[in-house]
Amino acid sequence: MRVGIGYDIHPLKKGRPLVLGGICIPYPKGLDGHSDGDALVHAIGDAILGAGGLGDLGLHFPSTPKHKDISSLRILDRVQELIRGQSLRISHIDSVVVAQKPSLSPFRSKIARSLARRLKIRSRQVSVKAKTNDGLGLVGREKAVAAFAIATLIPERRKNIMHVKRGAWSVKRKTAAARLRTTHNARRTTQLAKGVVNG
Ligand SMILES: [Zn+2]
Repeated sequence: MRVGIGYDIHPLKKGRPLVLGGICIPYPKGLDGHSDGDALVHAIGDAILGAGGLGDLGLHFPSTPKHKDISSLRILDRVQELIRGQSLRISHIDSVVVAQKPSLSPFRSKIARSLARRLKIRSRQVSVKAKTNDGLGLVGREKAVAAFAIATLIPERRKNIMHVKRGAWSVKRKTAAARLRTTHNARRTTQLAKGVVNG
């Protein structure tokens, strides 16, 4: 099992859409950044890359014109490809979004479902928690939104290989049982012929 951690923070700016976990949340301010500023997806992406020993988002998604205003959900697609290349898969993701406003609690399950769908995992494998910053610092003064994430990766299931192995084992077991039956029958036939046992 491998574990990775991720963190991100983006400033809130008037007139920008507020996108968190790929969900657009109604609010007059949104997160500023080179992409859509989805701090939660960025923290999760970094956590997954960290667990896979694959560097960070800056390495795979530099702030070039190609990545200007891209949907951060595309980052998750790429991150998934990268960990599959390492024969790893996501076991669980835990995350915390820290925002003074708006209240994100009503959106938690919707955000988790959106992330799970994009990562092609079950909703129960994604946990999203929402906190305020108790009025402290930039987040507390509603100037920014931060996110933390932890990703747990496990080796990819090798279904086909297991199936073949199990099949081969089953054939072996059946052959051994048949051999035993044949030996038993042959012994019994000999004993019958010799009159050792009664038919
Ligand atoms: Zn970011």
